[in-house]
Amino acid sequence: MSPRRFAPLDLAILGQPRATSALQRALEADQLFPSLVFHGPAGAGKLATALLLGRALLCRVPEDRPCGECRSCRRIDERALVHPDVRLVLPEKKSDFERADPEAGGRAGIAPQELQAEAIANPVWSVLIDRVRQGITFLQHRPSESERSVLIVDQAQRMESAAANALLKTLEEPPPHAVLVLITPSWHALLPTIRSRCQAVPFQLVPRTEIVNFLVERRELPAEEAVLRAGLSGGRIGPALDLDLDEFRRRREALVAILDELARRGDPGIAVARAETILQAGGSTEGDLEILMTVLRDLLILGVSPGDEARLINVDIADRLRDLAGRLGPRSGAALEDLETTVESIRHKGNRQLLVENFLMGLLPDGGDSAPGAPART
Ligand SMILES: [Zn+2]
Repeated sequence: MSPRRFAPLDLAILGQPRATSALQRALEADQLFPSLVFHGPAGAGKLATALLLGRALLCRVPEDRPCGECRSCRRIDERALVHPDVRLVLPEKKSDFERADPEAGGRAGIAPQELQAEAIANPVWSVLIDRVRQGITFLQHRPSESERSVLIVDQAQRMESAAANALLKTLEEPPPHAVLVLITPSWHALLPTIRSRCQAVPFQLVPRTEIVNFLVERRELPAEEAVLRAGLSGGRIGPALDLDLDEFRRRREALVAILDELARRGDPGIAVARAETILQAGGSTEGDLEILMTVLRDLLILGVSPGDEARLINVDIADRLRDLAGRLGPRSGAALEDLETTVESIRHKGNRQLLVENFLMGLLPDGGDSAPGAPART
């Protein structure tokens, strides 16, 4: 078999066979559509894939691109992007942009992953028209050292409408060397005028078993740790890799102890006090409730079939959870539903203290009936 020009993309990007095979075929046939939209849930690897595509297009070796080692490849990375022919545009704070040197144009030496996290954490920021104009100018010039140039617009649904309109012509008729990748959680969040000029590349959440296999086989993690990380990742490889496991275990221990205490003692006063403990723990309440969610889910599984460890997330504390499942009985199922409602209400700015109290009340041995409404403080 003759050597391939491009290395298999699915070896670098986990669990996205539709996206990677579509891109692979297009690259091999030299028919890559120049205006692409990567759409799908956060954490599915869209930005990583866009950067990988940039590497593949700009790599300096003739076969099995990207090699990952040439001078070009080494400058396109999720942690550091310093290649002059790849540019990343994201939502940013307008005043920061205005304070910076407007002639500088690019953002040489940026950290894509970090910037993305920052942009996601600040939903009021937009992709600025001036930044998009710089991107368009960048694409119109010849690449400085490669055959192609790549412009990536992350969180493209957050383009100011003038920015989106400014981009239309370039999306329609990009210069022959140019590739544009727009990244968005939802295809339909983009204007129809943008969508009609682009090819959609869908991404999805990654099945848990695939994340486990990846962590075990390629990151050489112990199976138990891989199961835990995959289970907590919600189908997203980034969080699976980044999770601070020691911190997670510390928080989980505190939360399981609270469940244990509530299951033993039907005292509403304890529920109120422990709600305070959770809210004042210093970590993120949402994070704690997500940990609780995984624990309750496991309790539910163990309550139905105590031997079914294969489906657990918190498999490392299976024995402890089996005991607790016995004590909580059918309450864990109802509690899981309550918790989902609680998390949703907190997202909608409900009173945290009251919501968490109510949730914990529901775990008391006779708490099911007294939980709704405002609990009496004791
Ligand atoms: Zn290379």
